[in-house]
Amino acid sequence: MTSEQPRDPIAVPAAGLILLVGVSGSGKSTFARQHFGGTEVISSDFCRGLVANDENDQSATKDAFDVLGYIVATRLRRGLLTVVDATNVQPYARSSLVSLAKEHDVLVDAIVLDVPEHVAIERNERRPDRTFGSRVVSRQRRDLKRSLGRTKKEGFRRIHVLRGTEEIDAAQIVRERPWNDRRDLSGPFDIIGDVHGCVSELRTLLTTLGWHIQVKDGAAVGASHPDGRQAVFVGDLVDRGPDTPGVLRLVMGMVASGLRCA
Ligand code: GDP
Ligand code: MG
Repeated sequence: MTSEQPRDPIAVPAAGLILLVGVSGSGKSTFARQHFGGTEVISSDFCRGLVANDENDQSATKDAFDVLGYIVATRLRRGLLTVVDATNVQPYARSSLVSLAKEHDVLVDAIVLDVPEHVAIERNERRPDRTFGSRVVSRQRRDLKRSLGRTKKEGFRRIHVLRGTEEIDAAQIVRERPWNDRRDLSGPFDIIGDVHGCVSELRTLLTTLGWHIQVKDGAAVGASHPDGRQAVFVGDLVDRGPDTPGVLRLVMGMVASGLRCA
């Protein structure tokens, strides 16, 4: 028996959209329950139930997806991680959700649960709440296979494909904070505009604000503040002024020593 290396945890955007992709019976709802909070997951079945009192009522699909889209959009607007539990095996189903993510300026990942067809069919046969036959699963699987070759072009940041039940069972999720989410920084901040190569004026400004400049061979190579203030550079550092390399040396030194500079 060969022992397989455990795969790296699946990194998903902490405040983005995640589409679960897989045929009926592939284990999407189970996976969602295991890895995400109850209200983070919006399932098409649940939305069908909301609008038709019957999670299997296929005639309610359009209305159900309207509701699903509304909830997803609202959550994304409010900055909440949202997981869509629907088969998502067809390109048009994915594209409208990808568009919603773009409209709300958030990243979108797909997690594909790819189980052998017979596994999904057997599971569905055991479910009293699933009335459709194996042909539906076969069709969904054909759509899925076609999709796997092309989803990269659809605007996903990452597509995580879990192949087989073992890989699905072993999967771990980590939430990746977007690089522009700096709510952990509490300041106080010194916000500094255009410097334009004027290192002497920058040194004067920092000193006036109470910063201690580190000097090496006469050049400023870093700065720290005794009260832990944080510098945020929001303007141009380079161009025009007399000493662009000097400005870069100083600011890069501040960044390297862990100060937050933007
Ligand atoms: P979905 O249709 O993709 O949402 O699939 P579900 O998560 O509802 O799972 C379908 C059926 O398979 C349910 O009865 C689950 O209990 C079962 N199931 C899901 N994941 C697993 C698994 O990893 N192992 C086993 N043995 N059963 C599973
Ligand atoms: Mg389900």
